[in-house]
Amino acid sequence: PNTSGPSLVTTTCPYCGVGCGVEVTLDESRQLSVLQGSSDHPANFGRLCVKGSKLLETNSINGRLLSPMVHGEPSDWQTATQTVADKFKQVIAEHGPESVAFYVSGQLLTEDYYVANKLMKGYIGSANIDTNSRLCMSSAVAAYKRAFGADAVPCCYEDLEVTELLILVGSNAAWTHPVLFQRMERAKKLNPDMRVITIDPRKTATSELADSHLPIKPGTDVALFNGLIQYLSQNSGLDQKYIDSVTQGFDVVLDECKQWTLDLVAQTCDIDKALVENFYHLFCETEKVVTAYCMGVNQSTSGTDKANSIINCHLASGKVGKVGSGPFSLTGQPNAMGGREVGGLANMLACHMDIDNPEHRQTVQTYWQSPTIASKVGLKAVDMFDDIETGKVKAVWIMATNPMVSMPNREKIAKALKKCEMVVVSDCVDKNDTLSFADVALPATGWSEKDGTVTNSERRISRQRGIMPASGQAKHDWQIICDVAKAMGFEQGFDFNHPREIFDEYVGLTQADNNGKRDLDLSGLAGLSARAYDGLKPIQWPVNQSAPEGTKRLFTNDKFYTPSGKANFLKTVFTPPEQVTTNDYPFVLNSGRLRDQWHTMTRTGKASALTSHFSRPFLAMHPKDADAMALKEHDLVNLTAGHLSHEQSDICLPLVLDDKQRKGELFAPIHWSTTNSASSNITGLYTDANDKISGQPELKHAAVALTKV
Ligand code: SF4
Repeated sequence: PNTSGPSLVTTTCPYCGVGCGVEVTLDESRQLSVLQGSSDHPANFGRLCVKGSKLLETNSINGRLLSPMVHGEPSDWQTATQTVADKFKQVIAEHGPESVAFYVSGQLLTEDYYVANKLMKGYIGSANIDTNSRLCMSSAVAAYKRAFGADAVPCCYEDLEVTELLILVGSNAAWTHPVLFQRMERAKKLNPDMRVITIDPRKTATSELADSHLPIKPGTDVALFNGLIQYLSQNSGLDQKYIDSVTQGFDVVLDECKQWTLDLVAQTCDIDKALVENFYHLFCETEKVVTAYCMGVNQSTSGTDKANSIINCHLASGKVGKVGSGPFSLTGQPNAMGGREVGGLANMLACHMDIDNPEHRQTVQTYWQSPTIASKVGLKAVDMFDDIETGKVKAVWIMATNPMVSMPNREKIAKALKKCEMVVVSDCVDKNDTLSFADVALPATGWSEKDGTVTNSERRISRQRGIMPASGQAKHDWQIICDVAKAMGFEQGFDFNHPREIFDEYVGLTQADNNGKRDLDLSGLAGLSARAYDGLKPIQWPVNQSAPEGTKRLFTNDKFYTPSGKANFLKTVFTPPEQVTTNDYPFVLNSGRLRDQWHTMTRTGKASALTSHFSRPFLAMHPKDADAMALKEHDLVNLTAGHLSHEQSDICLPLVLDDKQRKGELFAPIHWSTTNSASSNITGLYTDANDKISGQPELKHAAVALTKV
């Protein structure tokens, strides 16, 4: 805005995947003064959660990285950019394109993601670009792709309100998607007949809304949903017409599910048979059912199968593509979906095209007119850090994420970053556990400065607007990437002056050689003027000639993105978690978010009001387990796991007694690290175990031991 009086600007919250619209007032002195929910944003209609409402308190210049740093010394942009470009060029020349990698983030805007992906896949010629969304929703992506032929979320938020049965699996939405949860609460209040079931090893704040809570044994979701298929088949719950006309592969699934009787399910999931039967009965008898799922499903060695077992049940009962029905994966981060759209995962090309499809590779390379195109799937997050540790990858650029705290197996990540010949970190903060390994640190703009688009859990693209000037010497991520690309000698392809130009190029790619078949069709947004881009209203993809106002729900016409046009049933075989307990490591450690903190607290940690809910890390334990070990509330305990090189880890947490979780299981929040607490982060207790299909790490099921300090 360039007016001199106060002005109101609409943007989006930078935290979770709900993607709430936010209005901020810029006062006469060009400072942000008032912040409120945007009343006409379809994600939140004016609501904000406590994190969003405290955004201005986290927006100070304190703790910002303000100038480039090279080998720990302040530098200038030209030197820093050239240092990065020269090293990447040298490594590629000596060891090939597979010897470098980018590890990016669901906190980047779509335009940032687009150019990072373009540089790595179209110019460097490797697909070694992966994102922290790998830790968040890659299992959901893989499951949608297997079932529907594309990474396409069928539902919208309105479905959560108009449904008759809402099932929440592995989701503490009350804390992790608070505004969406408020919408669910309101819907149930307005419609007392609406039923809610929560499925989670812990009874959480979300379970308080539930008519029934199923405290299943962690990792047994596939058994539960396979049992539901069997129940549907035995109780006239199958939609045979839908199965016959719209899907394929049901017989194999039914064969696999026949063994899952109520008794076997109850025994495997370690819950009352009556609870299981009630859940199955409700699913079977209710016309409109939404199953919303989150990290408890995705962060698992069988995450993809878990999600497919849920999708199978919706396909078998014809509860897909209808108002108030569908399998709905809730996105963790604000732009995990935007990143997926432009190829932020190592196994995808931009615009949901596949690396292993030669036609898709040709389409992308031709459109970009790039010198090359990655010809094989790149390194997924866990493998990427493995290859850094073994020395195969010699230079890595980490953008807007803190893998030392968020990745599993912290010891390995530290070893890898120490060994790497060049670690580049671009971030908006000046201190975190990963930045301490940076050879080159590049200051990036943060929320209120960044300008571009994000996509939320319901496929809704919204503008995040640049309101304030950049702090210090910070640059936008897309600018930093384009500058490095040009310094590497890639003059063409990165000559962007505004995020609108990048958005426009991306929109063009969604139509390239489309023949009307591409799931991610944004042709309706082609050629936006600067004014139209800036004024872009939140809109759900696809946006095309037949849906110029966007698309609320997918698959309403029963046509899917598979070659046959039919949805695929996937045979899902129950497999227990990989990190199993032993006599030496007898407890299962679950992890998750708290209501008022975000990720590794680099931003929310700045607002004192956000510590009133929980001011310090903790370990929650069932009182009976504590009794058995003669432990009591507030005792400090040391946690350790079998893969750690020292018998005792440096992870010490105060105990909180909590009978809302199962015996033998522990819970700790993910947010704290050595930067913000004396105790280390708990993700170091997790091994590299990950889903064979999606590569998503198992961050909900470590086997640990604890001792009183
Ligand atoms: Fe921000 Fe998520 Fe809260 Fe909305 S629900 S205000 S997007 S943190």
